[in-house]
Amino acid sequence: MMGLYCDGASVRLRRDLPEVAARDGEAVLRVRAVGVCDTDLQLARGYMGFRGVIGHEFVGVDERGERWVAEINNACRRCPTCLAGRPSHCPTRTVLGIVAHDGAMAERVAVPRENLHAVPDAVSDEEAVFVEPLAAAFQILEQVKVAPGDDVAVLGDGKLGLLSAWVLRTAAAHVTLIGRHAHKLALAGGAIAQRLAGDVSGLARGFDVVVDATGSPSGLAAAIGLCRPRGTVVLKTTVAAEHALSLAPVVIDELTLVGSRCGPFPKAIDALARKVIDVRPLLAARYPLAEAEAAFAYASQKGVAKVVLDVG
Ligand SMILES: [Zn+2]
Ligand SMILES: [Zn+2]
Repeated sequence: MMGLYCDGASVRLRRDLPEVAARDGEAVLRVRAVGVCDTDLQLARGYMGFRGVIGHEFVGVDERGERWVAEINNACRRCPTCLAGRPSHCPTRTVLGIVAHDGAMAERVAVPRENLHAVPDAVSDEEAVFVEPLAAAFQILEQVKVAPGDDVAVLGDGKLGLLSAWVLRTAAAHVTLIGRHAHKLALAGGAIAQRLAGDVSGLARGFDVVVDATGSPSGLAAAIGLCRPRGTVVLKTTVAAEHALSLAPVVIDELTLVGSRCGPFPKAIDALARKVIDVRPLLAARYPLAEAEAAFAYASQKGVAKVVLDVG
C-alpha cells in the first residue's frame, strides 16, 4: 500500500508498504484525511528516531462507512498506571505514528478499538483532523481551573497556540494571543486580543494563566515573565532542545507550572459539532497522499498553518 515512511532521518513516499496488520484489539480503518503537525516535521528530521509510517491527526472509515478519529496513546490497559485511569501515561504505550506504531499517512491504519471516537455528521473531514490537537488544547481546561474573569495569555501563534486561545476563550472572557507574525495572529479572530511579541511592554506580569505554545526553548521564560505572582504557567511546548532559564521567579512568585499534553477527544468533537470553535481558518492547504513529500516541504516553510493530506 501507499504511505509516507520515516526511516529515522527523512520521510519518503512508498508504494510498497506491507498491508497493515491489526494487533490484538485493533481495528483497521481506511484513512480519509490526515493532518501534518509540527511533531511530524520533527520526526521527519530524525527526532526520536522513529521508523515507520508517520501521521497521528486523522479521520478514517471502517468497513461499514462510519467515520472515526482515534486517540494516539496505545496503552496496555493492564498495568497499575492504566488501571489507575492514566492510560495516556502507560509506561509501555506505543504512540500512533510517533513511538513504535505505524501511523495514518497511508491508505490504511490500525488503531486500538478502545481509542476510537465516532465523528458526527456535523463535523467535516477537514475539521476532524483537528480533533487530536484540539483535544490537546482542551487538556489545559482539564488541568487548570480557569475562571470567567481570569486574564489569560497564550504565547505562540502557531497551530497549537491558536487552538489553545480558542479553547481558553470558551472559559475566560479575556484571552490575549502573543506571537511574532501579524498574519498568523489575525487568524485568531476578533474574540481574541492579539499582540506582537516585541510589543509586550504594556503587559507587565498581569496574567492569571499563561500558556507557552511557542514551540521554542525561550517560550517558558517569556511565559514566566508574564505570569502574576501565584499564577499558573502551562507548558504545551515539547521542543527537542535544552532549556536554560532561572527558576528563581517560580519560587519567589510561587507560580504553578503545569505540563500538558494529550487531552479529551469528546470535548474537542463536541466543540466542533456545536460550532463553538471554528478551526477552518487554520487550514492552509490540501494535498493528495501521492504528493505527501511536497506537502511536507510546504508545511516546513515558516508561517504555514495546517496542511492536510487527502487520502481516500
Ligand atoms: Zn500532532
Ligand atoms: Zn499500561
